[in-house]
Amino acid sequence: MAAATGDGEVCIVGAGLAGVGVAYRLREEPVDVTILEKSRGVGGRAATRRKHGCRYDHGANYIKDGGDRTDELVRELGDEGLVDIDQPVWTFDADGEISPGDRREAHKWTWTEGITQFAKRVLNETDATVHKTTRVDGLTRTADGWRLSDTEGDSHGPFEAVVLTPPAPQTADLLASTAVEDAESDVAATIEGATEAVREVPFRTIRTVVLQYPFEIDRPFYALVNTDRDHPIGWLARESCKAGHVPDGESLLVVQMAPDWSTAHYDDPLDSAADEAAGMVADLLDDDRLAEPGWVDDQGWRYALPDAGLDDGIVDALRGQSLFLAGDWLVGEGRAHQAFWNGVDTAEALLVDR
Ligand SMILES: Cc1cc2nc3c(=O)[nH]c(=O)nc-3n(C[C@H](O)[C@H](O)[C@H](O)COP(=O)(O)OP(=O)(O)OC[C@H]3O[C@@H](n4cnc5c(N)ncnc54)[C@H](O)[C@@H]3O)c2cc1C
Repeated sequence: MAAATGDGEVCIVGAGLAGVGVAYRLREEPVDVTILEKSRGVGGRAATRRKHGCRYDHGANYIKDGGDRTDELVRELGDEGLVDIDQPVWTFDADGEISPGDRREAHKWTWTEGITQFAKRVLNETDATVHKTTRVDGLTRTADGWRLSDTEGDSHGPFEAVVLTPPAPQTADLLASTAVEDAESDVAATIEGATEAVREVPFRTIRTVVLQYPFEIDRPFYALVNTDRDHPIGWLARESCKAGHVPDGESLLVVQMAPDWSTAHYDDPLDSAADEAAGMVADLLDDDRLAEPGWVDDQGWRYALPDAGLDDGIVDALRGQSLFLAGDWLVGEGRAHQAFWNGVDTAEALLVDR
C-alpha cells in the first residue's frame, strides 16, 4: 500500500460546506488539517457546472440565512463576484396556480462564478491540505490513531481525530467499513450501534433537470416553489437572475423534480426525463415554447436533503472515540449555511476534546 499522506492531526472526509466549516474553525489553531474529497471539485451539494457558455448551480441554488453571521461571513469572503439575487421566490400549488411569495425575503447569495465559490473562498482562508478525487473506503482504529484507506489503495494517517461529513447513508457505509485493531476494546460495539442509527436518517432524492432556451424568459420572480408538495416539480429557478450565469438572449431553467417523481424516474435516460420535465414546465409557465429546450442537462442527487437529524447520544458516543460527524443531516435540515455552521460547531467540540 502506498502512503498518500503522512502524519496529520485532523482528517476531514468531504469538502462540502460542513467539511470546509470544520477547516475554517480550525484555521487559526495549531492543528494540521487534511481533507479527503472524492470529487474533482469542492462544495459537495453546493455545486456549479459550466456548459455551452452557461454557468449554473445545479444543487443548492443560493445561500440564505435569516441571521447575520452568514451574511457577515459571505461579505468577509470578498465582494468581488458576489451576487445577491434581487427577484423574489413565488409559490405554486398542485394545480399549477402561481402566487406571489409572502415570505420575508432575506439575502439570496451566490457568485458570478457559481455557488462553489463559497467552499473555495472558505478554503482559501485555511491552510488545509485538500486531496481531491480521493474516495475513502475504510477506517481503522490503531494504537496511534485513525488510519483511512481510499479506493486507490492508498493509506492516510494516522490522525488523532476524524470528521465524517458525507450524507448519512454514505457515512453509514464508512462506519460499516471501520476496523478496530484492539479486539478487547468496546470501540467496535460503539461504532456498530452508531452505524445502524446513522443508516436510518432519512434522505430525499431529487433529480435536477436543466433546460436551456435560445430566448429570454421574463417573469417577475426568480424562482417558484411548490408549497403543497403535491406537484411533480418541486422547484423551478431562472438562472439568468444570477449575474454572469447566462448569456444575454438566452435563458436557463434549473428544475428540481419532486422526490416521488425523482425516485420513479431516477434512472430514465436524460432525453425522456427532460422531455417530460419540459412539458410540465411549459404548462406551469403557460408558454408552449418551453416544451422544446435548446439543450438539456441533469444531475441525480440520490441523497439530496435530510428529513431528520441524529440523536445527540450517537454523536457523543463516537466523539468519545475521536470520531466526529458533521453535515446538514446532523441539523436535520438541508441548508447550505446549516451544514457550514454545523462544521464550525463540530470543530469547536473537537478542540474542547484535545
Ligand atoms: C438539489 C438541491 C437543492 C438545494 N437547494 C438549496 C438551497 O437553495 N439553499 C440551501 O441552503 N441549501 C440547498 N440544498 C442543501 C445544501 O446543498 C446542503 O444542505 C449542503 O450543501 C450540505 O453540505 P454537507 O457538507 O453537509 O454535505 P455535502 O455537500 O454532501 O458534502 C459531503 C462531501 O463528502 C464527499 N464524499 C462523500 N463520500 C465520500 C467518500 N467516501 N470519500 C471522500 N469524500 C466523500 C462528497 O463528494 C461531498 O463533497 C440543496 C441540495 C440539493 C441536493
